[in-house]
Amino acid sequence: MSSSATKPRILTGDTPTGKLHLGHYVGSVENRVALQDSYECFFIIANKHAFTTRAEQAGEIRQSVLEIATDYLACGIDPNRSSMFIQSEVPAIDELTFFFAMLIPFNRVMRNPTLAQEIKDKDLGDKYPFGFPLYAVGQTADILAFRPEMVPVGEDQLPHLEMTREVARRFNQIYCGVDPQTEDDDYVRAGGLFPIIKPRLGRVKRLVGTGAPNPETGQLYKMSKSLNNAIFLSDDADTVQKKIMGMYTDPRRVRATDPGETDPEKNPLWAFHETFNPDTAWVQEHKVLYAAGKVGDVAVKRKLVEVLNTIIEPIRTRRKHYEQRPDDVIDALRIGTRRANVVAEQTLALAKKAMKQDYFSRSLRI
Ligand code: ATP
Ligand code: MG
Repeated sequence: MSSSATKPRILTGDTPTGKLHLGHYVGSVENRVALQDSYECFFIIANKHAFTTRAEQAGEIRQSVLEIATDYLACGIDPNRSSMFIQSEVPAIDELTFFFAMLIPFNRVMRNPTLAQEIKDKDLGDKYPFGFPLYAVGQTADILAFRPEMVPVGEDQLPHLEMTREVARRFNQIYCGVDPQTEDDDYVRAGGLFPIIKPRLGRVKRLVGTGAPNPETGQLYKMSKSLNNAIFLSDDADTVQKKIMGMYTDPRRVRATDPGETDPEKNPLWAFHETFNPDTAWVQEHKVLYAAGKVGDVAVKRKLVEVLNTIIEPIRTRRKHYEQRPDDVIDALRIGTRRANVVAEQTLALAKKAMKQDYFSRSLRI
């Protein structure tokens, strides 16, 4: 940790609504593992956000926090270099949420397209709790509490990051006297407390799931823990095989003469091959054969099972190691949460000072 103070910071994370899947891996986790050396990394396990849709399943949320921490370690996140932490144990985030909620119009939050999409995809209708839209504001605090430079995420998170940028600009303008004409990159230099963060998309912005498309739009859903269409990094080899062999494929593809019919957005089989199969020559050749009806689903699926199991196997092995050592997982979370509180408390103190609400000093111990 000696040189971390001089490194730029990253904040990103996951909601504990299940285990990590291949979408997380290519969308964000791969980037996180690679960036550990050059950045001071904070990985939030956003357990409060899981309550937006699962308030009655508190036990499952707890289990999922531990599963995700285990997944992080299995993927190669090193707790000595990076800090993984539990959102609800960092109170400064909540305190910032309340102040930030004053800086963003209610209608602006409700127009956030990711929220609208989640309401549809998760079938929340108009019964979602007050806390559901609040989570989008909370996420601005999850991020800004760490004043990070960069946030590695999947594409669905971009609207949330745009709101974070808006909140940061407003705060800096109102409480730190930064001129609204200031370029985003210059806000901190101009006296602002919060950097105007940059998103960093993964190799794949939005990996599709294994299920059939949305009947209304024809679009495949994104792979998601909540949509029952995911291949998990913890799935055993047989489960991967079952999921792939039973996976949806476009029934029209046999008649296809247009190679566009193998559009990975329309057929998860090819989306997965293009994302994960390192043998690009095989993929190109078989895509053509497939579109012409000369090679069937089964052969292409079998190959995919092999490819995915090769990728998942080392993660699976490391995961088994940590599954047998739950105390190590808790220790990693405790150390990470402690470090997260140091930074978040510091940010909160600075924010309160800027807002002229700094009456007493306080300290927090975990
Ligand atoms: P939930 O269904 O509970 O919303 P999720 O599967 O969408 O879960 P999140 O915890 O919301 O996962 O997302 C964690 C991170 O992983 C975010 O940065 C998100 O953009 C990224 N991510 C999630 N699913 C995908 C995907 N299919 N492709 C690329 N990135 C993804
Ligand atoms: Mg999500």
